[in-house]
Amino acid sequence: MLTNKTRKKNIASHASSGSRLHSKRDKPAAAKCALCSAKLAGMPRLHSTQLKRLSKTEKRPERAFGGIICGKCVKRILTEKTRLENGSMTKHNVDFRHLKYIEAMKKI
Ligand SMILES: [Zn+2]
Repeated sequence: MLTNKTRKKNIASHASSGSRLHSKRDKPAAAKCALCSAKLAGMPRLHSTQLKRLSKTEKRPERAFGGIICGKCVKRILTEKTRLENGSMTKHNVDFRHLKYIEAMKKI
């Protein structure tokens, strides 16, 4: 539930040319990468009511882990995955947060 303070922040009412008041909701914050917290490209900043009008491909990039982690991190994970498979890298050298995504990448 919205408190009075957040409601004031989210819905700023402003007078229009007529006598009626119009309310305007704030845009939600940009989606961020789960690993490096960079802003995700290709993700619309819309409320859930507006998001459901978009098609699946308009909501997220059509990439592995699109909408969850950024392109740079996907590239890093891919190289780490191939290096682990070649044996040129061990699991101890890989960031422990990447291991979950490397395991998921094997299933794709
Ligand atoms: Zn990232």
